[in-house]
This record gives sequence, structure tokens and C-alpha cells, in this order.
Amino acid sequence: MNLRDCVKDKKRIVIKVGSSSLQHKETGGLDYIKLEVLVREICNLRNMGKEVVLVSSGAIAVGKRAVHLGKDDDPIAVKQACAAIGQARLMMTYQKIFSEYNHVCAQILMTKNTIVDPLNRFNAHNTFSELLKLGVVPIVNENDTVATYEIKFGDNDTLSAIVAALIDADLLILLSDIDGLYTDDPNKNKDAKFISVVDELTDDLMQMGKASTGSNVGTGGMNTKLQAAKIATVAGADMIIANADDMRIIHRIMDGREYGTFFKAHKDENFYLADYVENMGH
Ligand code: GLU
Repeated sequence: MNLRDCVKDKKRIVIKVGSSSLQHKETGGLDYIKLEVLVREICNLRNMGKEVVLVSSGAIAVGKRAVHLGKDDDPIAVKQACAAIGQARLMMTYQKIFSEYNHVCAQILMTKNTIVDPLNRFNAHNTFSELLKLGVVPIVNENDTVATYEIKFGDNDTLSAIVAALIDADLLILLSDIDGLYTDDPNKNKDAKFISVVDELTDDLMQMGKASTGSNVGTGGMNTKLQAAKIATVAGADMIIANADDMRIIHRIMDGREYGTFFKAHKDENFYLADYVENMGH
């Protein structure tokens, strides 16, 4: 079967959406139209019988706006305070839209400890399983309010791949402000070619990601997306990076159409998630 056709049969899907894809560029305010379409797409997947987990950024950005802070880089305590304000606001908005479609969502906030500590990991795994069994859509973010450098994942690209590994998802969709992977930065090099399928994440490809910058609202550039691809694919999930400009891209991808860059899963039986997370950044 064609790679893209296989997508139709995916049962457990993690969708990650970045802050820049949820905000109006000019003002930083939430783009309700985009949020609405995102939630509608997810509810539609639920109605098709798929299990869906959403990893959503935006806590800090939404919190900053709520207390009228500008775009400057704030000290960590201010960011954490903003995350506390923004996370609640973001969830309130999600809950409101999910309930309009008669679906239920839930909040899961994680740190590295959630994965590294065996009891925490066991509990987190059980909570995800129960929520999915109940037909609920878990919405995940890093617990920015309490996370310090030592226990921080740092970006939601990585977090979403770790969630995919934790719950044995079969597909991870990373929605961002880029179409997918190019042979070079398309903003700087007109000859950069789009890569539709990545069979194997070679060292050359990983190096290519390091050179890129990406959006300035969230924390992930192409590098973190390729790191995420590494985790997701060795954990046994296919991954697709696609552009969140039009959230309806979700059903187009799920229809098996050629959008974004597809990274093929290569399950590594020796991949141990807790060890990986513990050694991250060392
Ligand atoms: N966890 C952060 C937030 O919700 C965003 C991290 C990221 O964008 O990668 O604001």
C-alpha cells in the first residue's frame, strides 16, 4: 500500500500545534477561526473513531497578552507567571469550542519527571489510556509554571514526540508555519527543494536541521522537528510535518493526500523512553 494511503488506517494520532499557528501575527491575539477549525477537525477524527491527543503550545503567549506584556523576552519568573495565566485561558477556550461539538477535552501538563520517574510514567500512561477509553481528547503542554531548566523538555516538538512514544501512537502530525522539510532554507535559497518523504533520518539530514531557525514565537525550529522525528520514528510512529496555515490540512492528510513531509517509522526495540528523556540535553 502507498505510504500516504496508510495514513487512513491510523488509529491513535498525536497532533502538535505551535503558538505561532494559534495567534494573529500582528497582535499576538488568539486566532479563534483557526482554533475553531482545529477543534472541528479533531472532533471529526473522533467521530471517525480515531483516538486523538492534542499537544498545544500557547500558554506563555496567551498569558502575556492577558496582562498586556509586550513581545520582549521576559525573565523566567515572568514567563512562568504568564504560563499560569495563559494555560487556564487557553484551556477555557478549547473547552468551550470542544463542547460546541459535543466533545470533551482534558488537560495534561508534563515535565521530564513525568517520564523519567517510573511511578509518574506509569500514572501518566494510565491517565492517557483512561481518557482515550472515555473518548476524551487530552490536551498536553509542558508544565511551564513549575518546570525549571533541569526538568524542562524545552519545546513542544520534542514533547509531542515523547507523548507519541509514551502512548504508542501510530502517527504524529506536527503543524507549524512551514510546509515541511526542504533541502535548504527556502527563505534564503530559491533552489531549495521540498522533501516529500524521509525514509531514514540520516546524519546529513539532522545536520541540515541545525542550520535552520524557524518561527520566533514558539521555541521550535527545524532542528527540534527533526529531533522529534527521530524519537517518534524509533518509537514506531510515522510523523508528518505540515503547514498549519489552513487547519483543514488535517483531514487532507488523513485522506492520504500528499501534504507535508512524511517521516517513515523504523521501530527500534532497544529504544527506552525514560533513558532517552533522562539523557536529553547532556
Ligand atoms: N510550552 C510553551 C507554551 O505553551 C511553548 C513551547 C513551544 O512552543 O515549543 O507557551
